[in-house]
Amino acid sequence: MTIDDAPRDALRGGPRELLRWVATGAAVSRADLSRLSGLSPSTVSQRVEALINQGLLEETGAGRSRGGRRPRQLAVPTGGAVVGAIDLGAHHARVGTLDLSGRVVQARTLPVRIEDGPEAVLGALLAEVTTLVGDDPVASADGSAADALRGIGIGIPGPVQHATGRIVSPSRMPGWNGFDVAAFCAGRVDVPVIVDNDANLMALGAHRTAHSELDHAVYIKAGTGIGSGVISSGRLHRGAQGSAGDISHCRVMADPAPPCTCGNAGCLEAVASGAALVTALRGQGVPVSDLTGVIRLIDDGDRQATALARQAGRAVGEILAVVVNFFNPQVVAIGGRLADCEPLLASMRATLYERCLPLATQTLLIERVAAGQDVGITGAAHLVIDHVVAAA
Ligand SMILES: [Zn+2]
Repeated sequence: MTIDDAPRDALRGGPRELLRWVATGAAVSRADLSRLSGLSPSTVSQRVEALINQGLLEETGAGRSRGGRRPRQLAVPTGGAVVGAIDLGAHHARVGTLDLSGRVVQARTLPVRIEDGPEAVLGALLAEVTTLVGDDPVASADGSAADALRGIGIGIPGPVQHATGRIVSPSRMPGWNGFDVAAFCAGRVDVPVIVDNDANLMALGAHRTAHSELDHAVYIKAGTGIGSGVISSGRLHRGAQGSAGDISHCRVMADPAPPCTCGNAGCLEAVASGAALVTALRGQGVPVSDLTGVIRLIDDGDRQATALARQAGRAVGEILAVVVNFFNPQVVAIGGRLADCEPLLASMRATLYERCLPLATQTLLIERVAAGQDVGITGAAHLVIDHVVAAA
C-alpha cells in the first residue's frame, strides 16, 4: 500500500520519470532520455530494459536516423495493460480504466448512495471496474483482459489514513468510520489497490495534466464537502498520517458560527462547503434540495444564494491565505462543483490578495482546475502507475 515517495531530486531520471517523459512525448528514444536525465546511455538503457521487461514500455519500430543505425522508438504500451480508477463522491462515483500513460480509455458516472455503507458501495464499484476491464479495447488488445489490470486506485470523500487505507472519522459517510478499504478490496481483487482521499487524487490528477512543470501547488476541492491536496517539491504531500491538506475543520470567522458535524462550530466545512450552502439556504426558508439547486440559484443571481456564496468565498480565501503565506505555492487551483461559482471565486481571490504577503502573491497563479470530471480518476490512475513503476 505504501508508495515510494522519494523527493523529486532523487527521482531525476528514475524509472517513473523516464516513463513519464515517454508518456508525455518529451522523449521517444533512449538518447532523448539520456539527454533529459543527464544519465549515461548505459544507465538509461538498463532502466529502459527493466521497464520493457515489466511491460511498462515498448519499442515501436525505427525512428529517424542521424547517420548510422536507425534508433528504435520508445512508447508506453497502448495495449495489454490498464489501471482501474474509482472517484467516489457523496452522490455519484466516476469509474474508469486508463492506460499506462494516464489517458482515460473508458469512464462512466454511476449514482451512489453512500449511506448504503462501504461493503455495498465498494462492492458494486469494484464489479463495475471488472466489467469495464472486460469491455476494454486496450485491456483486451493483447490477450486476456483480466490479466491486463495492473491495479486499482480509489478516492474516498473523507480522511484516509494513508499507510493502512483505512477511513477515519468522515463527515456525511455514516457506517464508513474505521472501515479498512484496502483490506476489503484485497479480498475481492487480485491486484494492488491504493486508497487516498478525493482531494489528493484531484491534486495529483490536476498537477500531472496541467502543472507538472511546477513544484509547489495547492488544489482546493470545493463540492459537497471541502478539502485540499498539496503538491510539494513535485510530489503529493500527505504528512505523517495522510491528513495533510485537510482544511475542512479549520476555524473561520462567521457570526453566528454554524455548528459542524465534528462537534465544533465555525469550521470551514460548516460555512463554505456545498452541504453548508444547502443548509444555510434552507434555514433562510429557501426550498432547495441539493447543491445543484444552490448552483442554479447562484447562476440566476438569487440575492440570498449569492450572498452566501460570497461569504463562502471569503472563508475559503481566509484559510487559503494562511496556507499561501505558510507554504508559498506557485499555483492555487480550485476544482469541484463550486469552482464554477463566480461570486465565490471572486471573493476568494480578493481575500487572498488582501491577506497574503506581496512576495507570496507576486507571481502566484490562481486558477480553476481545468481537467474536468475525469481529474479524480486520472489522479487515481497515476497513484497506481507510480506504484507499479516503483515496484518494477
Ligand atoms: Zn468541523
